[in-house]
Amino acid sequence: MTVIDAYDLVKRYRTGGETLEALGGVDFSLSAGEFVSIMGPSGSGKTTLLNILGLLATPTEGRLTLNGRDVTDLGDRKRTRLRKRTIGFVFQHFYLLPTLSAVENVEVPRLFDRDPGRTARAEDLLTRVGLGDRLDHRPDELSGGQKQRVAIARSLINDPTIVLADEPTGSLDRETGRQILDEFRRIADEQDVAIVAVTHDELVNEYVDRTVNLVDGTVGKEVLNA
Ligand code: ADP
Ligand code: MG
Repeated sequence: MTVIDAYDLVKRYRTGGETLEALGGVDFSLSAGEFVSIMGPSGSGKTTLLNILGLLATPTEGRLTLNGRDVTDLGDRKRTRLRKRTIGFVFQHFYLLPTLSAVENVEVPRLFDRDPGRTARAEDLLTRVGLGDRLDHRPDELSGGQKQRVAIARSLINDPTIVLADEPTGSLDRETGRQILDEFRRIADEQDVAIVAVTHDELVNEYVDRTVNLVDGTVGKEVLNA
């Protein structure tokens, strides 16, 4: 099943009198259970593309379909609702709330839902990423890799079909980075979640199904992993 279908995405930023074209016509599609990396030098448009795929930004031109639904012209409220139901996010710097425990951090995206099963689900997700014995620890009591695992568990709390990660190993040492990439690989394989990781990190290529190279806002050659 195709979860993302993006066609000819263009993004222009207007600052002062200048117009900068961050994406110059990008096609991108993604299937359930695929783990794909987007690589490219700084400034090549990786974050811009990820934000558009994640409904955090809209393209200037082009079309975007998520789970078979054309979302290009969706209004703000519907976009927000759909984003929450469909997409999980993981970032380089984790963005955990320092005063909350691991479980509470995972529950954050559901804090305004009156869902009695929320805490049990958060505990289950943390257990699945190997943090069953760290449920009540605060972020400052966790290592970098453990913090990123909490962020991964949080990204899964709403049962997304897609997880988008921006430089997820960027703050981690190599060995910890590998553990996080193993985790993504397992989530894609076992839970059929589609994962896109934007990265500079060559290590990521050992774990993904394919790599999309962005250069100056356009897609270069795609590398398929055996
Ligand atoms: P990457 O994530 O690959 O480093 P970005 O998507 O962040 O690239 O940026 C692509 C280009 O668009 C860069 O030249 C950047 O300066 C520019 N850009 C990104 N966001 C904005 C914005 N909000 N306003 C103006 N220019 C932006
Ligand atoms: Mg970026």
